[in-house]
Amino acid sequence: MKKKLVIIGLDGGTYNIINPLVQRGKLPFLSKFVRNGTHGTLKSTFPPVTAPAWTSFMTGKNPGNHGLFDFQKIDETGERSLTYSTDCKSATLWEYLSNADFRHILVNIPMTYPPRKINGICIAGFPVPENVNYAYPPDIFSYIKNKGYITDWTEYYEKNKWKSKIQILKEVEKKRLGIFSDLMSEHPWDIAMIVISGTDHIAHFELQKGNQRAVADHYEFVDSLLNDLEEQNVFQDASLLVMSDHGFVKTDYIFYLNKWLKSEGYLSYTVGLEKTYDKFAEERRRTVYGKKSGISSLLGAVGLNRDNLIYFGKKTGLIKIEKYLPHFITKKIPARDISPVWKNTKAYMTSDLSKGININLAGREKEGIVPREKFFRVRSDIVNKLKSLRDEQGDNIFSFVDVKENVYKGTMTQQSPDIVILPNEKFNVKPSLGNKNIQSRIVGARHDVKGIFMFRGQEIKKGYSFDLSIEDLAPTILHFIGAGCPNDVDGRVATEIFSEESETARRTVNSIDVLDTVYDQDFMHDQESVSNKLKALGYM
Ligand SMILES: [Zn+2]
Repeated sequence: MKKKLVIIGLDGGTYNIINPLVQRGKLPFLSKFVRNGTHGTLKSTFPPVTAPAWTSFMTGKNPGNHGLFDFQKIDETGERSLTYSTDCKSATLWEYLSNADFRHILVNIPMTYPPRKINGICIAGFPVPENVNYAYPPDIFSYIKNKGYITDWTEYYEKNKWKSKIQILKEVEKKRLGIFSDLMSEHPWDIAMIVISGTDHIAHFELQKGNQRAVADHYEFVDSLLNDLEEQNVFQDASLLVMSDHGFVKTDYIFYLNKWLKSEGYLSYTVGLEKTYDKFAEERRRTVYGKKSGISSLLGAVGLNRDNLIYFGKKTGLIKIEKYLPHFITKKIPARDISPVWKNTKAYMTSDLSKGININLAGREKEGIVPREKFFRVRSDIVNKLKSLRDEQGDNIFSFVDVKENVYKGTMTQQSPDIVILPNEKFNVKPSLGNKNIQSRIVGARHDVKGIFMFRGQEIKKGYSFDLSIEDLAPTILHFIGAGCPNDVDGRVATEIFSEESETARRTVNSIDVLDTVYDQDFMHDQESVSNKLKALGYM
């Protein structure tokens, strides 16, 4: 008989929020994993960013072997553009499971647009371009749209401007889980997975304002929805896996990396309002903050921007006001950004999320100035300087600094930042200008490498704790289900999580041949005409 598996992805899910709630008797759904299953830390990718991390989960590979390092990439002409599933050069868990005849229902997994050809249903997750069909097979799109499916909270916000982001995230979560549950009762499935995005968004919005209560409240809300689904037997007799792509930590200081690079003579920049080289940040801002109004440039002209609002807010207690300001007011406040003067720049921070540093290399970057023969020298100088930086308590500001070839292995490392960094737990790192100092004592929050995994079901050990890497999940799931394990993965089958007498623990791992990535060519060709048809029907 085929095994069934339900996977719940909590984007940014962290024990920093979960553990205190479980101890206080909250989170009935997640508490069952602690009591009756195996759980532990899931080490994320470097950098701990949604795009590479979910891709490593789906492929069982480090980013050097799948090719995705960030939400953006630099193409052959040096231009920056957003990344999609087509940038992942590896078959995924879903293709191996489809090949072994398992049926899927996949909802909202990041980096699955455009969806690949699988046995079952895939509603692609963030990022999804505008005016496309993001559902596979294509006819599922009108079904989910009729039920009011929301792909991104910003889309829902546009129609509900008076609501708070906290409220909007809750409504989006409830709607998505409802449609996930409908799909599971109306279609056959062996593997069902949904990613809850709100656990990440709420931490970005609220943890950085020090509002831990709002984050905990969202976890409790999601937990109760999941608990309801389990009580309604939506998950049937499936084993249950909860996991996150990365964790989250609250930080006490911000290190302005571009400002430091400037002080060391590596970077030259001008400062403007809403002008950033970070393609993903720009795109996100466009959807979250929309087009700028006249009032916005007026606020900018008198010196009010998001950086100093947060800074002064925290100093004066005004932050509490910002917490309750509706989004349509905060979105009027512009951001103050750095624009590198490329012809005088040797190195820059790659993006807000990925935290790495790139050398402005001639031939690779659009306006690169560092010749190849000087690359290694410039890079090692920066690495050594970063390693020696100390904070006010005398600790290293960066707990990890290394060059890319020591961090990634594989043939797809060309998109990785040249220098990979991780700040210590007290620090966040930002590309923006901030205030006058390179390090400022400002409460913030950032992604952490320590994510979560929790597993329970018939064959899973009860009351155990093990730590895994995110690359271990694909091989472990494939072995557990009985589909065999491709011989090119970086992760391993975590046999220690299965009870010793279980069939899964006793079965030897069956090594299988590597598959190619498969897109449904008709779906890809039809994208445009389908989108026109749906527009005509009023779905887009
Ligand atoms: Zn994430």
